[in-house]
Amino acid sequence: MTTCRLHPYEEWTGVRVEYGRTVLIIDPGRGKPCRFGAARFAGRLFDRADVCLLTHFHHDHYARIRRVDADGVVTGEFTAFLMERCLENGPEAIPLEPYGEIVVGDVVVKCVPVEHTCHEALAFVLEPSDGGGPVVLYTGDWWESPDELVSKVSRVTGTVDVLVTEAAAVLRDDPGNLWEQMKRVADMFDEVVYLVCRSFPDVVDVISGAHGEDPRVPPDDRELPGILEAAGVRADVATGTDGPVVTVNPKIAVGVASSREVPLVVPDEMKPRVVGDLGYAGRLLTVKMGGHPTPLDVIALAEELEPDVLVIRHSSPKNATDVKDGSSVKDVRIWTEGLMDPGPVEVSG
Ligand SMILES: [Zn+2]
Ligand SMILES: [Zn+2]
Repeated sequence: MTTCRLHPYEEWTGVRVEYGRTVLIIDPGRGKPCRFGAARFAGRLFDRADVCLLTHFHHDHYARIRRVDADGVVTGEFTAFLMERCLENGPEAIPLEPYGEIVVGDVVVKCVPVEHTCHEALAFVLEPSDGGGPVVLYTGDWWESPDELVSKVSRVTGTVDVLVTEAAAVLRDDPGNLWEQMKRVADMFDEVVYLVCRSFPDVVDVISGAHGEDPRVPPDDRELPGILEAAGVRADVATGTDGPVVTVNPKIAVGVASSREVPLVVPDEMKPRVVGDLGYAGRLLTVKMGGHPTPLDVIALAEELEPDVLVIRHSSPKNATDVKDGSSVKDVRIWTEGLMDPGPVEVSG
């Protein structure tokens, strides 16, 4: 039987994991160090780990990485490349392939690719190297359907005892997820033009689901069919004459929406371009298409994985409390700036 203890390492996202005799620091983060519940750590001992794990190369995850006294940083190949280029005198990277694994003392560290705004982001699964012990999933930042994430995780493990995840999505006026936002738009309007991001081609699938039919691509949008095909999303959107219109080109979006006098749906970060640069004066509906899960996504993820303990990091206090209130997991810990539930998580298996 192995015991696993988790502490927040700093205020935002970092987690210090003692797994049997092995110590890991995951995403050392950017915030102030957290030593509560860890009075027994004297001086630099708190920063000492066998290895550090880094999910992706966003500053809020790696800012404190030089503080960690470890024998290398286990991360993805692309993040390893960025570390080498961008961190002067940085620690040595130990790159893993997607779904690759490495044994560190008492732990097997497995990596799972996740969708995020950062290229090649990873989640980590920690399992005992000798068979008996709790399974920890640290998702890092993610943005995809919870089902999809669950199916990826199930490629490397059958159970999750401790789920450490984030809930950082900020929705201005709707607590629902993207699909629900799209559905709401679809219910209100028969005809609508969607401007979608090049980086989120699967949104087209979501739009199809919301409308119950395939969208049309305006003939002058030459980019979208190729983007969809490359992403493996259903690429027959150019066929058919009815249904919503989808484009990745802001000018085309504004042109079609204006000429047909139908509402234009845009990701909120595109609003300044559409209204400011292109002067769109028609009805505008904005949806959030960020790189993070909403509280509803996190609740759905936990529902599927059924962990004993759910730890929320990297979140606003409001989102974290929404998860805690809405989740059926009995032991939910909120470790986020402004709302810290002190005390380590300890599980045995
Ligand atoms: Zn990130
Ligand atoms: Zn982040």
